[in-house]
This record gives sequence, structure tokens and C-alpha cells, in this order.
Amino acid sequence: MTVSETDRRIRSLRPAKAQFDPYTAQRSMLEEERRPGGQIERVLTAFLVGAECPFTCSFCDLWQWTTDGPTIPGALTRQLRGVLETHSAERLDRIKLYNASNFFDVRSVPVEDVHGIAELTPAFAGVTVESHASTIGQKTLDFAARLNGRLEVAIGLETVHPAAAAALNKKLDLARFDAAARLLVDNRIDLRVFVLLGAPYVPVDESVEWTVRTVAHAVDRGASVVSIIPVRDGNGELERLSSQGDFSAPTLSQLEAALDACLDSDRAVVSADLWDVDRLPGCAHCRKERIARLRRTNLSGVAERRITCEVCRE
Ligand code: SF4
Ligand SMILES: [Zn+2]
Repeated sequence: MTVSETDRRIRSLRPAKAQFDPYTAQRSMLEEERRPGGQIERVLTAFLVGAECPFTCSFCDLWQWTTDGPTIPGALTRQLRGVLETHSAERLDRIKLYNASNFFDVRSVPVEDVHGIAELTPAFAGVTVESHASTIGQKTLDFAARLNGRLEVAIGLETVHPAAAAALNKKLDLARFDAAARLLVDNRIDLRVFVLLGAPYVPVDESVEWTVRTVAHAVDRGASVVSIIPVRDGNGELERLSSQGDFSAPTLSQLEAALDACLDSDRAVVSADLWDVDRLPGCAHCRKERIARLRRTNLSGVAERRITCEVCRE
């Protein structure tokens, strides 16, 4: 992929990146997640370390968990083997393999690792990987056919706000997303979609509304799971956008409002991404209670009454 001036600027503003052992996963975690139909799955997420994604989105901070150069063939299989050994005593339904890039880009996931990963995961009923819509195609179908369980592919739709989507430097238009979604759904591959809260260039007072509209677009295209991800600042480019008034870090209260507005779908599970929830600006007095409420809502799918607070009065 050609490197543009915008790519260069975004990369030049990044803080220094840590170095990783290419044969050891960055980390892993266990969670419970609700699926359409209501069943609760035990999910193991393996954060694998490999080549950086070439897309250079303006809001992305995943590059910090990548190695320089292409992924060494066989390294991801070794990383996954280590993660599975650590959790060998657990009863698990799903594994998420997040490599901070695109699973179907051979520079990030070499062919021998695609095969190695399929061989290591027969015990899982569901296998989730992540990919830009542009790298979904025949390789996706081939990987699905190799798995014992059912494949789910997570795609970042981010926002359907037309001007903001064009400014994300994601090189993704709605037609491309829709075509990738159709390919997955037509081939009985589950679609998980990432939607941003607080995308740059979306006016702050319209932020929640555009997140809700983007979730609706994903559900209409067949998503079975949609995760609302508050944009995380700190990548340098977001600080530049913030200084010119084009980005404001999303708040805990906005996340609650967005999730509450998306719970009426009986076709998809919509949840709030809480992996970095402690970073979200919010009232010190009630934030613990609000986060606990969001955790319960993610599992139940039911909007509880909003928390009232005498300090922030929200
Ligand atoms: S496509 Fe995903 S991993 Fe790649 S730069 Fe964009 S957000 Fe980051
Ligand atoms: Zn409060």
C-alpha cells in the first residue's frame, strides 16, 4: 500500500513504541459475553503481536502493540500455544484472536500461522478474528472452512458520519463495508462490528446520535454483535486534532447514553467496550456505580434506570 502524506504525518506524531518478544502474546484475558439469543459465552481473548496494520487510521492506537517488519512465520502459532497452555484448565466457548492488524493480510498473519491457528482451536465453538473490510475475501472463506467451530470476523465500521468517515484515513467507504458484510453473512460467517464513540470531526453534541446511527447501519447489514468503542486519546494525531477543535475525548456519560439508545435491537447484541473504561472522563463520585451498571447492561441487554448523582446532577 502506498504511504501518503497523511499516513506520514500520523506516524510522525506517535509516541515511542515498546519492543515485544515476537514469540510471546502481549496478554490474554477471560470474559463473559452475551450472544444473540441470550446465551452467555466464556471468552478467551489472545492479544497477539505481529506486523503493524498498513491503514494508519487517525484514531488508532493499536500500532503500539505490533512488531517492526512482517510477522515471523510460525510466531503467532507459538504465541497462541502459550496462551492456550496458560488457560488449559478453563471451560471456554470462544476465542478472540486480536493481532492489532488484519488477520487476512499475509504480512500480518503468514499462511503457516493461518493453518497453525486453525489446528490449535478445534475445541472452540466460536473463533473471532479482526480485519479491515478490504482484506475480507476468499482467504476468509478458506479459513472458515478450516475451523471446527464457527468463524466470526470483526470489522471496524467506525462511523457513518460522511465527513468524519472520510477524514479517518481508514480508506473505507460504506459500499466496501456493506460488500464485506454481505460476503460474511452469505457464507454463514458471523459479523462483529466496531463502532466509535467520539470519532474525530463528529460534532460533540451529535456524537451519541452518530454512534447510534452507525450501530443501526451495522445491525441492518447483519451484524450479530456490535461493540461501541470510545476513542482513546494519546496517539499524537488525536492531540493535534483536539488542539484545532476537531476531537474531544468521549465521556462515560456519553457511553451510557449511546448504549442505552441501542438496546432495542433483538437481532444483535450491542455492548459498550469497557476495556479502557477507567480512562473515560466522568464524575469521581458516581463513576464506579455507572461502570458497574454498564457491565450489568452488557450482560443482560436490559437498560436499567440511569444513575442519579447529587454531585454531577447527570
Ligand atoms: S484498520 Fe484497524 S488496526 Fe488498522 S490502522 Fe485502522 S483501526 Fe488501526
Ligand atoms: Zn456524579
